[in-house]
Amino acid sequence: MNKCIVIGGGFAGLTTAAYLVNKNIKVDLLEASPKLGGRAYSFLSKDGTTIIDNGQHILMGCYNETLRFMKMIGAKDNLIYQSELEINFLKEGFEQIKLKAASFPHPFNLLFGILNYKAIGFTDRLKILKFFFKMFSYSENELIRLTVEEWLRKEKQNSRINKALWEVIAVGALNTSIKKAAAKVFSDVLKEIFLNGKFASTIVLPKYGLTETYCDKAQAFIEKNGGRIYTSRTVTGLKIENEKIVEVQTDEGNINEFDCVVSAVPFYALQKIIPVSYLNKKPELRYSAILSVHLWLKKNPLQEEFYGLINSPLHWIFKKKTHLTLVISDADHLIEKNKEEIFNIVAKELRKFTGISENNITDYQVIKEKRATFVPAENIINSRPSVITGLENFFVAGDWVDTNLPSTIESAVKSGRLATDAIFHAKSCKFNYYNERKKNNVRKS
Ligand SMILES: Cc1cc2nc3c(=O)[nH]c(=O)nc-3n(C[C@H](O)[C@H](O)[C@H](O)COP(=O)(O)OP(=O)(O)OC[C@H]3O[C@@H](n4cnc5c(N)ncnc54)[C@H](O)[C@@H]3O)c2cc1C
Repeated sequence: MNKCIVIGGGFAGLTTAAYLVNKNIKVDLLEASPKLGGRAYSFLSKDGTTIIDNGQHILMGCYNETLRFMKMIGAKDNLIYQSELEINFLKEGFEQIKLKAASFPHPFNLLFGILNYKAIGFTDRLKILKFFFKMFSYSENELIRLTVEEWLRKEKQNSRINKALWEVIAVGALNTSIKKAAAKVFSDVLKEIFLNGKFASTIVLPKYGLTETYCDKAQAFIEKNGGRIYTSRTVTGLKIENEKIVEVQTDEGNINEFDCVVSAVPFYALQKIIPVSYLNKKPELRYSAILSVHLWLKKNPLQEEFYGLINSPLHWIFKKKTHLTLVISDADHLIEKNKEEIFNIVAKELRKFTGISENNITDYQVIKEKRATFVPAENIINSRPSVITGLENFFVAGDWVDTNLPSTIESAVKSGRLATDAIFHAKSCKFNYYNERKKNNVRKS
């Protein structure tokens, strides 16, 4: 395999391209938008003074694939790492409560952290611990038809506990409510976070705007290793002959010289360029919105890097050097509201929770991401396609392919790594590759 076309320059496409050039494969990456980053990028605020993200992105210590990718492209130091889990929660009236891992070996650090989490009474904390001891003994079959809410009810977690802990984790990690999220997905996420040592449960944040944090580094790494990146280049179709892609059609002409193609675009974009029957499964994805409001203040009284809000439509507040970023996840119910209405909602919550009044706000900018993530409901569990397709030189990546992870950076990066593994496998071990395709029951011509 000498040359590969990668379509899409989000986390999945950049990871794919980086792993390929690292193995001396020539890569042309085609990205429709004028910038890299897909759903995770930064840009200059409307008044031209501040770099802001399209939405705050939180990584975790358990993002092993992402951290490996960041290290490979030289962006490891562009992240801020916690030494142990610490989240500052807020109740109305600026009541601050820490969820902080204790200084004991794992997992006692977390268990004691929960015992000390004073957002709820001691009896409720014991109920959480009881659930913790039991949750990982559930089998896949037991979980597969339950929503998170049903699972929590079964395990006698009351609404106080849900609001102070489970809803915060579900909305933060899955961008959906406990009513919609599948218990199986939630259980997998909890295992990743809580069963993999002390570092896995820590929060990792970008140090700079997202573009500077990873897009620029990834681009430099890919280009230094011989890859080429074309932005503002939309792929409009893929021509297939004899079970192979033979032409990549773009808005600036067609490309015929390549050995393989990796699509790293969202599923809804893939459907426009190739029939989905070439995937080994057809996912039925529904999407969930995220709203971000960047606020500039005369004076910022907040001390902590970030806060999680308990029992508020506003979920997170992040303190940046120049401004605050406020996040509303699972925001479909607000997406049609105009920017002023959205600002009014967050300004009211900000005043209730932190005492910051509207007089202190000098400017704001609202960013709506309608299809921020897919909903990790029961119907997606067994319907995500693998990176291998029914075409021998075509692979798919993206947070939506079968990674066993929700719609996150980690899933996107893992998909890119899996796609490159499949390509290397196809090259060095064709026999196994063809067997794999048969096993996955992919379409023949
Ligand atoms: C506001 C917001 C907050 C989020 N917060 C978090 C978080 O805290 N933690 C977390 O882990 N995840 C978070 N996510 C999810 C995370 O951003 C995504 O899971 C991840 O970025 C998906 O990467 P991807 O490469 O799979 O897809 P994308 O980022 O969507 O990249 C796909 C790329 O393909 C390009 N493309 C599409 N069609 C074509 C075409 N025909 N030709 C060429 N190019 C094309 C697109 O322009 C895009 O650049 C958040 C998402 C949003 C929107």
